[in-house]
Amino acid sequence: MNIKNTLSLLLLVSGLAACGGSSDTEEPTPVDGGGDTPLAMLPDAFLEFEPDNVTSVIDGANVIIETNGLPNHTSPYWSTTHPLYIEPVATTIDRLVPGTIDRFVGTYTLTVLGNPQRATTSSATSLGGIGIAVSGSLIYNDQEGGNQPLDNAVAGLDYNGAHTGPTSYHYHLEPKAITDDDSNLVGIIADGFFIFGRKCNSTGTYPNDLDDSGGHTSITQHHTEATYHYHIQNELYLNTYYILFPGDYQGTPNAIR
Ligand SMILES: [Zn+2]
Ligand SMILES: [Zn+2]
Repeated sequence: MNIKNTLSLLLLVSGLAACGGSSDTEEPTPVDGGGDTPLAMLPDAFLEFEPDNVTSVIDGANVIIETNGLPNHTSPYWSTTHPLYIEPVATTIDRLVPGTIDRFVGTYTLTVLGNPQRATTSSATSLGGIGIAVSGSLIYNDQEGGNQPLDNAVAGLDYNGAHTGPTSYHYHLEPKAITDDDSNLVGIIADGFFIFGRKCNSTGTYPNDLDDSGGHTSITQHHTEATYHYHIQNELYLNTYYILFPGDYQGTPNAIR
């Protein structure tokens, strides 16, 4: 064999390997077994997050989620000149809290395990962001700042159960633009578990096996194996609303910075 033919053979062989042909040196495909195992690929639920607002990247066993905090849907909290501005329907102009969404462009970063595990004990949420919704905006718990109960702020919440301040637009209640009595993916909580609407895709109806945090383990539209996740609990608040996440973290949360 002359040199030219040898080179051609080498190129052919390397080309086959690059196309996925079997070879003795091929690395075994990592298995997403949980804990510190590096992720082979981004869990597909992350593909539902608004790409204009949210980026999600793998970092070893972690996923780093970064958002600008803006929602991808209409709200009376946009400035009146913004294309997504609508007049209030669930509240009134005089009840809106100060500050339009446009003013709150920021950078909010959450790092979670790609395969989060439940902690041995649950832990309370605190004020500020406790999760990131698929829209790009932040999820808050059932408390308001300044020792105010959420009841005092409900009149100013838009149809997504959201308002602005202190650093971003954020949801307290079932966000109707994302989920309205269905099993849609709502977002991710700071302990790495996903949260879905009031119904579970595994049964098509309200789960009856939820823990105190609205969590249970089943398949979802994004998990072919039974996986722990949260739901918005189908329990009325003030006879009208559903609180987005009033419970404790069942995993180990990271701060949203
Ligand atoms: Zn609030
Ligand atoms: Zn479920």
